[in-house]
Amino acid sequence: MAGDVLEVRSVTSGYGDLTVIREVSLSVAPGQITAVLGRNGAGKTTTLKTIAGLLPVNHGEVIFDGQTITKSPAHSRRGMGFGYVQENKRIFKSRTVEENLVLGLYRLGLARQEEQHRLDEVYERFPILAERRRQTAGYLSGGQQQMLAIGQALLNRPRLLMLDEPSTGLAPSIVSEVMQTVQRLRDEGLAVLLIEQAVEAALRVADSVVVLDVGRVVHTGSSSDEGLRAIIQDAYMASPPSGRS
Ligand code: ATP
Repeated sequence: MAGDVLEVRSVTSGYGDLTVIREVSLSVAPGQITAVLGRNGAGKTTTLKTIAGLLPVNHGEVIFDGQTITKSPAHSRRGMGFGYVQENKRIFKSRTVEENLVLGLYRLGLARQEEQHRLDEVYERFPILAERRRQTAGYLSGGQQQMLAIGQALLNRPRLLMLDEPSTGLAPSIVSEVMQTVQRLRDEGLAVLLIEQAVEAALRVADSVVVLDVGRVVHTGSSSDEGLRAIIQDAYMASPPSGRS
């Protein structure tokens, strides 16, 4: 749709000869959270990796800010305004908080003064990271590590933030803290694509929802749609996938 930051049109992708997602379409608008839900193995991470350019698009199109970027390499997407927080690849645990952020900055090739400015922005947003800047990241709580990973992605001032299961491994009270952060970013105008297995946490913050099952979109709509929970339940309860090709 016009005005969307990201539009994925009928994308098919996978790993080598293995097709995992088929004809997936979704969109994310500025100031909106789109949640992609689906059980284990539904193809959520594969969808994100394809959008980020880490997996090739076999059919279909990826459009960012009105421009087709289907074949642009992953590194060039960062410069376009993609922020991507991958599951389990969040941070360097043996480095300090500040070192993690500086490593993120280094890739951006900014002038020294601008680097400091971006660092200050992250510290302003997450005061706990400023407080713990000299602490080894592995000693932060799970929620703080997630904040650090999000902070790293924000150094680039992205227009689209993609989060892969930010709730994984976190206690429920910490999940809501992380989700509040995501909501604040949305309220500031960021387009957010949120991949989640934690349905309730995602539905509390999402504006729109895409439900995936065995690599296909089985529902797209508003998070307040009547009947959405029944659709999600069906997708989570369906019999396990019996092989893909
Ligand atoms: P989860 O919540 O478990 O991460 P998901 O919905 O994100 O699930 P994907 O990780 O996208 O699902 O996986 C979808 C399918 O792709 C699974 O059948 C998985 O086995 C397969 N798959 C994932 N990564 C690879 C890979 N590197 N090589 C081959 N197949 C893969």
